[in-house]
Amino acid sequence: MIARCAATDANSRGRRYAEPVHPYRNGFQRDRDRVLHSSAFRRLVYKTQVFVNHEGDLYRSRLTHSLEVAQIGRTVAGRLGLNQDLVEAICLAHDLGHTPFGHSGQDALNRCMRPWGGFEHNLQSLRVVEELEERYLAFPGLNLSFETREGILKHCSLAHARELGELGERFLSRLQPGLEAQLANLADEIAYNNHDVDDGLRAGLLTVEELAGVSLFRRHYDAVRRMRSRPSRRVLIHETVRRMINEVVTDLIEATAANIEAAAPASIEEVRERSRPLVRFSPEVAARHRELKLFLRQHLYRHERVLAMNRQARRVIAALFQRFMNDLRAMPAEHAARAVAWGQARGEAGRARAVADYVAGMTDRYAVAAYRRLVDPRLEWGN
Ligand code: MG
Repeated sequence: MIARCAATDANSRGRRYAEPVHPYRNGFQRDRDRVLHSSAFRRLVYKTQVFVNHEGDLYRSRLTHSLEVAQIGRTVAGRLGLNQDLVEAICLAHDLGHTPFGHSGQDALNRCMRPWGGFEHNLQSLRVVEELEERYLAFPGLNLSFETREGILKHCSLAHARELGELGERFLSRLQPGLEAQLANLADEIAYNNHDVDDGLRAGLLTVEELAGVSLFRRHYDAVRRMRSRPSRRVLIHETVRRMINEVVTDLIEATAANIEAAAPASIEEVRERSRPLVRFSPEVAARHRELKLFLRQHLYRHERVLAMNRQARRVIAALFQRFMNDLRAMPAEHAARAVAWGQARGEAGRARAVADYVAGMTDRYAVAAYRRLVDPRLEWGN
């Protein structure tokens, strides 16, 4: 299967700052490598996905989550004839803008930044690759291709879209992104829905009995349990989750191939102009996947232990933000200098943005250490 509307170097809209062609790597391979070598990527290892770092070494972090997303994305792209390098670049970069402590960190930072345009992790991922990474003499950020940046910006508010130029356009005119970006988005969902089942069971926040109410889980769980070999609980769960991923990935490939064949888009532009994404599950599997997602929202993301951690995380982020706004010099010199410069150019909004960039870039443990040093040494946090 070769999709005619896969991204290639030839049909790419290119980079903001023109660069000479590399002798043996294509444009999207270079994008992927730039993401992989960025400091923001390395920090993902100490950032929370759902479970905070100290709860155990076996839980997903943002880094391992991103690797799982990339693996699923590459597999589907390979089968559909889409650009695997582009999908991989988007997947590896998609969470670069996440704050410490997962979504609670982003909620807290968004609240702090409300007077100055708010904080959105998607937009922050884009800021990381466009501005905050400092690695090149010739340009700020990583100078990634348009298609990679388009994929990183999964969604954003209309107010922000208006400020984003060509990248914001599709949100204003309700266009779709390219197929690789559509795929990366679903690979993300597949990865977290399934690995959160695994992590939730491991943590004892979910039980197999509760999960048996979810059709996607139940069918595979029952099938594995009926096998004669009588697997241990660990194998039983891993077999089940593996089969769940296989079911949704296979469905995604088949449904998408059928969509592409029926729509027969002649170019990426035609893909963009469609009212719905072409990369999607069949209606039945979409419903099953949604059921799992709602289950996790109710039972895992709103579990009292997760909520308690979230409350504490929000306090840490809000207090750090305030502390730095009150005294820019409490930040490391380069961040303080940036806040002063942006403050001179854009007033309080500039200062606040520099503080938000600094706080957002922290890892969980760095944020906890900063809180203990600058706000309250008695903070109890893990061990
Ligand atoms: Mg993600």
